[in-house]
Amino acid sequence: MSKPYDVVVIGGGIVGCSLLYALTQRGWDNVLLLEKLELTAGSTWHAAGNVTHFGHDANLTRLYVDSLRNYLTAEKESGQAIDFHRTGSLRLATSREELAAYEKLAPLYEGLGVPYEVVSPEEVAALHPLLNTDGIFGAAHTPGDGHVDPYGATQALAKSARGRGATILQHSPVSAMEPQRDHWRLRTPEREVTAKNVVLAASFWSRALAASLGLDLPLYPLEHHEVVTGAVPEVAGLGFELPTVRDPAAPSNLRQERSGFLCGVYEAEPAFWGLDGIPPDFGKELLPPQLGRLEAHLLRVMERLPAFGRAGIRTVNNGPICYTPDACPLIGPVAGFPGLWLASGFAVGIGTGGGAGQFLAYWMITGEPPYDLPMVYPGRFSAKADRAAQLARIKKVYAAGYVLPNLT
Ligand SMILES: Cc1cc2nc3c(=O)[nH]c(=O)nc-3n(C[C@H](O)[C@H](O)[C@H](O)COP(=O)(O)OP(=O)(O)OC[C@H]3O[C@@H](n4cnc5c(N)ncnc54)[C@H](O)[C@@H]3O)c2cc1C
Repeated sequence: MSKPYDVVVIGGGIVGCSLLYALTQRGWDNVLLLEKLELTAGSTWHAAGNVTHFGHDANLTRLYVDSLRNYLTAEKESGQAIDFHRTGSLRLATSREELAAYEKLAPLYEGLGVPYEVVSPEEVAALHPLLNTDGIFGAAHTPGDGHVDPYGATQALAKSARGRGATILQHSPVSAMEPQRDHWRLRTPEREVTAKNVVLAASFWSRALAASLGLDLPLYPLEHHEVVTGAVPEVAGLGFELPTVRDPAAPSNLRQERSGFLCGVYEAEPAFWGLDGIPPDFGKELLPPQLGRLEAHLLRVMERLPAFGRAGIRTVNNGPICYTPDACPLIGPVAGFPGLWLASGFAVGIGTGGGAGQFLAYWMITGEPPYDLPMVYPGRFSAKADRAAQLARIKKVYAAGYVLPNLT
């Protein structure tokens, strides 16, 4: 058998490719990525591609900041376009408490060198002339935000990593992983490989892979919808691209898509999918859309953005999205399994995947995380968790959408 790889990454979405990129950037080139189908075939290919510096929890801000920076660097290195639209974002404050919480974050962004300001309702209206600002107390404005093409960003990371010596094998599903005395043995239908380190970056599929080792990881797929509209003349005539809007009161993210809109909806009663296991033949595909379930939410979005209501729905995408009970990913080593690492459970994988890859690569290479981030460490969940309680918690955090965790 050939000599062990230093790292085998399982899963070729934005997270796995970000890790491969970061490992090779730091000089580890004896690395292999195994992807069951083709790169991006999981949740990555159909994501809206939103990248913000203001995520769902302020403690994760560095992951967000490092992600976009990485994608832009990979684009330059590889020549593969990532199609970044720098539109900026508005995170609306629909209460005084939210506004005060946004104001408190200003020093964090100043320290990270990221443009950030809290703006008045009048400034919101100037930045987004189509928005109904009734009931808004202001917004956090992050002008460096926008959206990328998730397929392009993943390919840019992969191309750069390959250029530095990494190997990527597509159509190579890992069917078995066994710990040996000082390494891991992995099997795909075509080959057997060995590795000193294995990283599960297979999103909700990581649950079954880990279960084969007796581990119970709280990684569950939910149905997540995005609605794409047709063109509206108000947008076509603007002459600039509107900022993305994240609205805690009508839990959604809403951005311009061509001359219409793209709206990601956080349902109050989300539905799980594949709880009894991901169907083995589930490929690069979407789930049947459930437009009826979205109606009440979309009405609230239309109140906020009347032009959205006039645009006419063109497409509704329902894709599986991976959640953990606190909506934070699992990043780090697995206790009791030397050489086994996790990079799974990303609900905002485009927004945080690039930074997470850097975080984990640093940890794997130096033996320590680059900074403390206990909210992503795998050990925070008990091995004997109550599944019903975990699912109930996921529903709650998903439905909270853009309400700050300390204000739920
Ligand atoms: C409708 C929708 C819109 C979204 N919009 C956004 C957005 O705007 N911004 C954002 O940040 N996030 C968004 N997301 C979430 C985002 O898509 C995910 O967080 C992200 O794609 C997760 O990346 P990943 O690499 O962890 O997983 P995936 O992209 O799912 O990759 C996992 C990979 O593992 C592979 N795999 C599985 N099993 C095996 C195996 N046994 N062997 C080898 N490979 C295996 C799969 O084929 C897959 O390619 C959206 C999600 C949905 C559903």
